Amino acid sequence: ARPVVAIVGRPNVGKSTIFNRLIGERMAIVEDKPGITRDRIYGISDWNGKSFSVIDTGGIEIDGEDAILKSIRAQAELAIEEADVIVFMCDAKSGLTNADEEVAQMLFRSGKPIVLAINKVDNMKRSDDIYEFYSLGFGEPFGISGSHGTGLGDMLDAVVERL
Ligand code: GDP
Ligand code: MG
Repeated sequence: ARPVVAIVGRPNVGKSTIFNRLIGERMAIVEDKPGITRDRIYGISDWNGKSFSVIDTGGIEIDGEDAILKSIRAQAELAIEEADVIVFMCDAKSGLTNADEEVAQMLFRSGKPIVLAINKVDNMKRSDDIYEFYSLGFGEPFGISGSHGTGLGDMLDAVVERL
């Protein structure tokens, strides 16, 4: 079976934008579970001759009370369960937030390899904004831009190195 890469992060950091860039048209078909929408979140990608499945965990939505909190927790749990490598995504435009720290704590316990990707690094000026994310404790942050497609090569090198 293909190794699995999961993209995890709080809403709005750009997970789906990057997911679409990674998979292009190559969606995978999966069945939804009752109360949980899982379609449009699995795709297939490759880099340096290595093929892998990608999960956009932000696509998992849970209905009912405390929906946002439950969804974020379910997303992290799915990633931790299924992923061989987790891409933890944050946002250079908004900077480090409490929600990022919360996701980080869930990921820490997983023991899975984590690649820290800081999205929305759209220009040189913003490339200095990635340094505060070192404090999350996941090593070197990779600055990327879903808008321009920049930085993805270095990020993917780090991902496939860990597969
Ligand atoms: P998700 O909730 O994490 O899946 O985030 P989305 O992929 O839906 O993106 C959230 C918003 O950020 C959308 O308005 C995107 O167009 C925008 N966005 C995504 N990537 C970038 C980027 O690299 N730069 C900027 N400036 N905006 C981005
Ligand atoms: Mg999304």
